[in-house]
Amino acid sequence: MKPTHIEHIGIAVANLDEAIKYWEEVMGLTCYAVEEVVDQKVKTAFFKVGEVKIELLESTDPEGPIGKFIEKKGAGVHHIAFAVENADTALVEVAEKGVLLIDQKSRKGAEKMNIGFLHPKSTMGVLTEFCSK
Ligand code: ZN
Repeated sequence: MKPTHIEHIGIAVANLDEAIKYWEEVMGLTCYAVEEVVDQKVKTAFFKVGEVKIELLESTDPEGPIGKFIEKKGAGVHHIAFAVENADTALVEVAEKGVLLIDQKSRKGAEKMNIGFLHPKSTMGVLTEFCSK
């Protein structure tokens, strides 16, 4: 297993509209998609910076993962997502090396990607996502 590139950087925001405004007006990027991922209790907005995407995450439920993250740590960088050939195979491979997983199997994320998270306890505090098409 070797990631091909950083697919996106996930950033938790308190207010999606305000955050989109910042990324467009200050950073000069264009929001090309807004999507709600009901399963993860988030509304997402996407920007492209070259090959890498910025994924803004606004919680739709204070009990959801982003709601809890913001309450504990405030807005900011939430996770780094690596593009891999096959998210399921990659999850199995790192689990065999002793890494704890949040997702034993991939699930559908934004943009219809197959995604799975590694537990930050096993990744020195960096919430890590694998994604594949
Ligand atoms: Zn992500």
